[in-house]
Amino acid sequence: MTRCRLCDSQALESVVDLGATPPCESFLAADQLDQPEPAYPLHLRVCTDCWLAQIPPLITPEETFTQYAYFSSYSTSWVEHARTFVTDAVQRLDLASKEKDAFVVEVASNDGYLLKHLVDREIRCLGIEPSVNVGAAARDAGVPTLTAFLDPATGAAVRAEHGPADLVVANNVYAHIPDVVGFTQGLRALVADDGWVSIEVQHLLTLIKENQYDTIYHEHFQYYTVASATRALASGGLTLVDVELLPTHGGSIRLWARPTEVAGEPAPGVSPAGAEPAAWGRVADVLAQEKAAGLQELSGYTEFSARVATVRRDLLRFLIEAAERGETVVGYGAPGKGNTLLNHCGIRPDLLAYTVDRNPYKHGRFTPGTRIPILPPEQIAADKPDYVLVLPWNLRAELVEQLSFVHAWGGRLVFPIPELSIVEVKP
Ligand SMILES: [Zn+2]
Repeated sequence: MTRCRLCDSQALESVVDLGATPPCESFLAADQLDQPEPAYPLHLRVCTDCWLAQIPPLITPEETFTQYAYFSSYSTSWVEHARTFVTDAVQRLDLASKEKDAFVVEVASNDGYLLKHLVDREIRCLGIEPSVNVGAAARDAGVPTLTAFLDPATGAAVRAEHGPADLVVANNVYAHIPDVVGFTQGLRALVADDGWVSIEVQHLLTLIKENQYDTIYHEHFQYYTVASATRALASGGLTLVDVELLPTHGGSIRLWARPTEVAGEPAPGVSPAGAEPAAWGRVADVLAQEKAAGLQELSGYTEFSARVATVRRDLLRFLIEAAERGETVVGYGAPGKGNTLLNHCGIRPDLLAYTVDRNPYKHGRFTPGTRIPILPPEQIAADKPDYVLVLPWNLRAELVEQLSFVHAWGGRLVFPIPELSIVEVKP
């Protein structure tokens, strides 16, 4: 990679080099264990002109998303998150008013987990979803869904057929598209000239501060601060007017943007209908936090690589010492990010006998690259291991409660990030 995909600058500086890893969702079946397994370099760099952090686009979204195994509706907390968002957005933007005949588009609408709440309220909506199988599930559930990737042509075609959208939602997709400029132009093509765009994406500020380096993987092409997201939005003719900090995925931002012609300055007095006056000024607050963390100069990025190395050494030291004491360690969860951690640390079944997951698709399969067996969750209670290494650390509070049964035999939980911690759970 020689040029920044947002501003075309050649001023790309290394943030962290995680070696080469396989695609993080390519779980192996038993009969694939004797086959070669491709691995791709995972090297995060930051552009010192626009401050977009990025990895090389080695695996295209077409390869990952045309047939996809992830259905958002399986996650109860995610469905609830979407329901709350819809309730708030309908009120904030007055989408339920009959005179308005509002139209909402969601990009990467998955199985309709969010839009079904608009269908229930009889508000016109359309999903744009690239995965054939996931989009079919949405249509079966009564959510109108177009099978496509968003680009300027798709955006213009949808606008010509259905009219401009009062609200365009793009959650957990803005990191997943290598053509960030074309995608943003697509959003602008969809949204009405006085409409709104709402985007949720992981926040680079928490990624850096909390050592969340395992959230770097091949499906995520870029990592945003509010400052770099502002630049990205501007590349398609959108202006950021508000931002919310969310706890999802270890720390996310919800960006509210409008066509530049109507956006004005994010200042008191131009708040949308229903917004709390306190919301205004949040953009400046978050920009100030990012600046204080040094993310608009190289200094904010230079320590990260050393902290990542510490996470790796601490985890390996713990696993090796446990193995030498004859203690057993198994994993909990097989999330995509777990595979960045396991591959970067070089952890194999001699140090982590197996991991468990609630998704039956993964049972009997093996983690990509590290080939650790994935079993059903009941295996933990059957084997009573000394330690359970929790890979989805972002669900810490929930899992400390759910896994409290390990206390019965004196088992303890281990969280690798933000730094190694061993937790004695209470019954
Ligand atoms: Zn750049």
